[in-house]
Amino acid sequence: MNARDAGAAAPLRAKRKASPGSVRRAFQPWNDPAAEPLVVFRNVTKRFDMVTAVDNLSLALYPREFFALLGASGCGKTTLMRMLAGFEQPDAGEILLDGVDITAVPPHRRPINMMFQSYALFPHLSVGDNIAYGLRREGLPREEITRRVAEMLALVKLDGLEKRRPDQLSGGQRQRVALARSLAKRPKLLLLDEPMAALDRKLRESTQFELMDLQSELGLTFMVVTHDQDEAMTMADRMAVMNHGRLVQIGPPDEIYEAPTSRYVAEFVGDINILEGRVTSVAGEIVRVETAMAGAVELDEEAASLATGETIFVGLRPEKITLGHDEPAQAANKVAGEIWDIGYLGDFTMVQVMVGGDDGQLLKVALANRTRRIDRPFAWEDRVWLSWDVEAGLVLPP
Ligand code: ATP
Repeated sequence: MNARDAGAAAPLRAKRKASPGSVRRAFQPWNDPAAEPLVVFRNVTKRFDMVTAVDNLSLALYPREFFALLGASGCGKTTLMRMLAGFEQPDAGEILLDGVDITAVPPHRRPINMMFQSYALFPHLSVGDNIAYGLRREGLPREEITRRVAEMLALVKLDGLEKRRPDQLSGGQRQRVALARSLAKRPKLLLLDEPMAALDRKLRESTQFELMDLQSELGLTFMVVTHDQDEAMTMADRMAVMNHGRLVQIGPPDEIYEAPTSRYVAEFVGDINILEGRVTSVAGEIVRVETAMAGAVELDEEAASLATGETIFVGLRPEKITLGHDEPAQAANKVAGEIWDIGYLGDFTMVQVMVGGDDGQLLKVALANRTRRIDRPFAWEDRVWLSWDVEAGLVLPP
């Protein structure tokens, strides 16, 4: 591009509005040492009889952050949220809000609201009265309540439905009433426990984006518990994976997916193949691993802590593997196998390939369905080759 072209293009570029996504990408207060967290959990523990639901956990949430908590059932997610809302008391540690210890502050005095999975709407009250409920309890003047209810109805796009009862609404509309009710008191922090569990897939997707828009429009901080990883990845600035009451990894969704620091996180978030092997050499950033099932594997990894002879796990996401009938000439890593299963999933097909002989290991390969061709290029029992780049494999500690 010459200087004149560049000059002509510049005003156009300057006029373009930044997309919400680009704004969110620049949002990383957790990397800013000067940023003040909104919430701090400091060495918090909660026990129920013999169970340690939350175990010496520390965490900071930042103003305007959309934070998602993931983890297997019973790992302590709800307990963590309930302590923040004030419904449970920690046995040890402290919880700070804006730098102040709120452990002794009762739930209704905290600028925090929790939206439950069941929505917990009052069935006998109208939509408008459901939204107004908390405001009336706070003793706000009648005009102020009317104004806020109207504002909330407009925000969640339910204008005109304020006289209906919850049983006269669809699941998605009920979800939005619950959201409006939780937002009406203008909490600083909204805790959402499985906010979309009752919605079908299409409605979930559109609601996810609505929720993200609402959050950034109102400048709120959200903490969401969900079992749906796609949902967490779509919405969250950061996610945390919890296991047995502890946070095992915390970071932006792409980091959690592409750079898990443990086998637990790698297997919990998304699909992954795990190959067990022994390190045979470490040269610069190239690690060679001898695996029983896929032979010698080469990885490009920060390998400072790895030693020759050490047993490690190599993680390989299914979409990072290339599948072909012919042996690839130039591949850094390749292994032959036989197709055992083909699962057609619409947007992609998951192929399971047995490598290392009939008693070997099944590796999953995800193939994007880029054409509408029905006769797929691979069939059951085909002899195939799997190949992948040195950057594709992850070193996972045992
Ligand atoms: P799920 O995803 O199934 O909702 P979770 O990660 O939210 O699970 P919690 O509800 O926080 O898990 O529970 C953590 C642990 O604490 C579990 O072992 C649970 O049985 C236990 N627990 C939670 N609440 C109580 C309680 N009130 N009394 C006794 N044990 C409890």
